[in-house]
Amino acid sequence: MVTVDEKLEPILQEVLRRNAGEHEFHQAIREVLESLGRVIAKHPRYLESSLIERLCEPERQIIFRVPWVDDHGRVQINRGFRVQFNSALGPYKGGIRFHPSVNVGIIKFLGFEQTFKNALTGMPIGGGKGGSDFNPRGRSDGEVMRFCQSFMTELHRHIGEHTDVPAGDIGVGGREIGYMFGQYKRLTNRYEAGVLTGKALFYGGSRARTEATGYGSTYFVQSMLATRQQEFEGRTAVVSGSGNVAIYTVEKVQSFGGKVVAVSDSSGYVVDESGIDLELLKEIKQVRRARISDYVHAKGEGRGAYFVDAEAGSIWDVACEVAMPSATQNELTGKDAKTLISNGVIAVGEGANMPCTPEAVRIFQQAGILFAPGKAANAGGVATSALEMQQNASRDSWTFEQTEARLATIMRNIHDTCAQTADEYGAPGDYVLGANIAGFVKVAQAMDALGII
Ligand code: NDP
Repeated sequence: MVTVDEKLEPILQEVLRRNAGEHEFHQAIREVLESLGRVIAKHPRYLESSLIERLCEPERQIIFRVPWVDDHGRVQINRGFRVQFNSALGPYKGGIRFHPSVNVGIIKFLGFEQTFKNALTGMPIGGGKGGSDFNPRGRSDGEVMRFCQSFMTELHRHIGEHTDVPAGDIGVGGREIGYMFGQYKRLTNRYEAGVLTGKALFYGGSRARTEATGYGSTYFVQSMLATRQQEFEGRTAVVSGSGNVAIYTVEKVQSFGGKVVAVSDSSGYVVDESGIDLELLKEIKQVRRARISDYVHAKGEGRGAYFVDAEAGSIWDVACEVAMPSATQNELTGKDAKTLISNGVIAVGEGANMPCTPEAVRIFQQAGILFAPGKAANAGGVATSALEMQQNASRDSWTFEQTEARLATIMRNIHDTCAQTADEYGAPGDYVLGANIAGFVKVAQAMDALGII
């Protein structure tokens, strides 16, 4: 069992005490601190000047009221968050999540993870995250627009292309980014394209940004498989979720010759033994914004696809060789991990942020399964956001091929950095340790150089 080094234990205890009840944040901090024992053994200077304590404390946390009027004329109130976690490497960068489960602890865990992920990309971006407990599901376009405008009315004071550059996440896609950018532009009277990423192509977006997270995690798993002379070709895969990350994971896995047999949403999962029909999935989820069970109805009863309600079973009961959890945090438990292993899984790539519980991660690692942690595997989204910022700054627009080629190179570099770091610190094949240490060292070096800030 992995434990936190005794020199780091007091730091962990202090974080737990000061952030009581923020379970996801505790989980994310614990996972990183578990990896840092080997670093401080080699470089004790990182224990000096409270560097690790400073890294665990966000630079700034903004919480605000978001009032808006629904289609019935009723006033609704939500809570908005932006946690500007660390700017040692560049402006804060990280998505905005709209989901009823959002609270400060979830945003802090995401901002903390983002700091290391962004460092791993090698791009000059710090870490941040934001969101609201607003639930876009079932809301009209007009309601979503009024909510986004109210959210940005407060957020605009805190962001800017050199300060903090938000993007999308769960519940925030092209439509929401458009409404928020429109309101930012109106409030500031500036066409500052680089203030948000994930924009549509026709007003400053980047080609391949929509696809980047899912494509990127698939590239990462491809590199991991290659270390064991394996590939996607001919293998079955299961991808949880059916949002932005999941859909483009399915697309890339299929393009590499893999067969994705199941996808999900919060209502349950769909199995299609003949392979998920990607165009149909996009139609159901991106065009109709419908529930995943509609996939079965649209395909036609008796045509090999079926739906299982979330109460009745877990998508991880479906046998596969590659599992790509791409929905949300803690969606894959220790029990699921054991089921996947007994069904023959050989590789797991986290498309979502922290989708596997700590117990699940341990079970995979102890069984020798290739395991890619989200902060490395899903970094392709933010890396391509940084490419969008580059294009905005130079008023340029690259081709899809050029952008995807950059993404592929970045993902291979992240894979190799994690693998080499794990080797260097005596834990070959441990991508969790490799990602945590490589990300930490980059941020820590910068913080060290900048004085006590
Ligand atoms: P989307 O909102 O596009 O899709 C989320 C998907 O996950 C939906 O299918 C949703 O189902 C499902 N889901 C959400 N919450 C739950 C839940 N509590 N239980 C079961 N299913 C759930 O989000 P993204 O695809 O953008 O994000 C997915 C994950 O990837 C998140 O962890 C996000 O932080 C991470 N990520 C995203 C990046 C990006 O570029 N978008 C970049 C890096 C990481 P339903 O519609 O029923 O809610």
